[in-house]
Amino acid sequence: MDIEKHRYSYLTKFKIMMRLKCHCGMVEAEINLENFNKILRCNCSICKRKGAIMSMVKNEDFVITKGKEKLKLYQFHSKVAKHYFCSNCGIYTHHNPRSNPLMTGFNIGCIDEVDSFKFDKISINDGLNHPLDKK
Ligand SMILES: [Zn+2]
Repeated sequence: MDIEKHRYSYLTKFKIMMRLKCHCGMVEAEINLENFNKILRCNCSICKRKGAIMSMVKNEDFVITKGKEKLKLYQFHSKVAKHYFCSNCGIYTHHNPRSNPLMTGFNIGCIDEVDSFKFDKISINDGLNHPLDKK
């Protein structure tokens, strides 16, 4: 079985539009998962600490519907990537990666309908050896 297809059907059998919520509920977003593809973790210095299981959509498929003013932006190193978290509960909600700022990565753990423990194979993004850091 094609594992990517399996992951896709696992998520999409619920619905295409899903709601992401931080822990305290002050921040919410709607995600259009129509073009959803991969599920990943990342070994870069920040993702290693967060430990979140993530996925990616285009920026236009990710809309903050509540609590935009509660979001805090964190940046480091090249200050290209934008890492957002709820300023009240501290939960990582989403980010715009350095490698492609037109995409939004989001925390699958923030979607109630998805059991992130059900994914058997999760890709590892090698953010530790970021292509933009290579000389
Ligand atoms: Zn919160």
